Amino acid sequence: MNEHDSERIAGLLEADGLEATDDVSDADVVVLNTCCIRENADNKLYGNLGQLKAVKAARPGMQIAVAGCLAQKDRALIQKRAPHVDVVLGTHNVGAAVDLLHRAELEGPVLEILEESDTFPSALPARRDVGWAAWMTIQIGCDNRCAFCIVPAVRGREISRPFDELVDEARALAEAGTVEVTLLGQNVNSYGRDLTLARRSAGEAVRVRPLFADLLRAVGAVEGIRRVRFTSPHPKDLRPETIAAMAETPAVCEHLHLPLQAGSDRTLAAMHRGYTAERYLERLAAARAALPDLAVTTDLIVGFPGETDDDFERTLEVVAEARYDSAYTFLFSPRPGTEAAERPDDFVPPAVAAERFERLRVVVERSALARHEARVGRLEEVLVEGPSRKDPDVLTARTRQNKLVHFRAEPLAPGTLADVLVTGAAPHHLTGELVAVTARPRHRTRIPVAAR
Ligand code: SF4
Repeated sequence: MNEHDSERIAGLLEADGLEATDDVSDADVVVLNTCCIRENADNKLYGNLGQLKAVKAARPGMQIAVAGCLAQKDRALIQKRAPHVDVVLGTHNVGAAVDLLHRAELEGPVLEILEESDTFPSALPARRDVGWAAWMTIQIGCDNRCAFCIVPAVRGREISRPFDELVDEARALAEAGTVEVTLLGQNVNSYGRDLTLARRSAGEAVRVRPLFADLLRAVGAVEGIRRVRFTSPHPKDLRPETIAAMAETPAVCEHLHLPLQAGSDRTLAAMHRGYTAERYLERLAAARAALPDLAVTTDLIVGFPGETDDDFERTLEVVAEARYDSAYTFLFSPRPGTEAAERPDDFVPPAVAAERFERLRVVVERSALARHEARVGRLEEVLVEGPSRKDPDVLTARTRQNKLVHFRAEPLAPGTLADVLVTGAAPHHLTGELVAVTARPRHRTRIPVAAR
């Protein structure tokens, strides 16, 4: 989400006549788009601002802006600690970035933080570096209140982007050669709660709210879009309609990222997640029944305040039962401003949390390896991302299940679709042999998304 906001800001700056540069000392404008989900986001921000102070001193006229959720949270503190910052803007007024920079030229340092977005900031241009794949934000904000999460405080309430606009954007992307879109939202399953959509039923106009399932089907039906991904669905809101749409829309990839966070019902309740482990596993089973070749990934937090040995054992059991293809595992660390950060007396000792983390890693990797080994000998359609970072003679690509595959081949352009025979498996990737190129890329290098 944050990276896509960066694309939007870059798109606005380009529309204002600026060009991207890799050399910061050559820049007229530097925007630091922050994300306070990450640990130590403030240390990184002030470290970067410290370095930029000297760069700015050597280049009079350079402007520095700080955007994103840390700006939304820290506000005036940023200019207090770093007076050389020209503009501080929040998550709800990304679209004002250029105006604020112009204002700062005339008036000096500007701070503008809005408490919420009135509407979806959909009419912004985006500068996309990758032409064959694109993110589309379908929803901003979050109406949930997970005890560990800062997102609702810095991103505001949920707002869905109008349905037709999204389908139009998918069409424009497809016409420009994009073959894969990823639909982004904090809780994509609740997409449309705030929208209505006119539909004809038995000859009469009725108004119903669009479901996420409708969006999956509509974007998946756009000619030229070969792969539709989405992240993230909240397990409590995963509806049968979504699973049916995944199963019945060929373009929707066989991959579900379903954040579990913890396996103990006690911990889940303390996190305010709104489901039990049993309910989670039932929904997972329903998804696997409908999509037999489904890859499932998850997010897990170890050491949530108050987590006992028994709670953690339950997490290990549920993770083993869920048979994940991979998992993002995190050691709990408090985010100031969240409910969980207010429970320091219940924090799990770091050594205990570290030991649990290691045990969880072993269980996750065991199931990931088993899932990957089961794919050896299969022919997989992959989308080429480019040469591997470690070995330029090896190409890196992704299967429909979002698995990385490395294979040796003559250079193929990023965005190429190919069939690869899977010959080897590791916990975090597959290896394979190129069998055939099935489609060459036809995207432009940059895709401007026009303002409406
Ligand atoms: S669903 Fe929970 S974890 Fe996800 S963004 Fe909302 S509050 Fe955060």
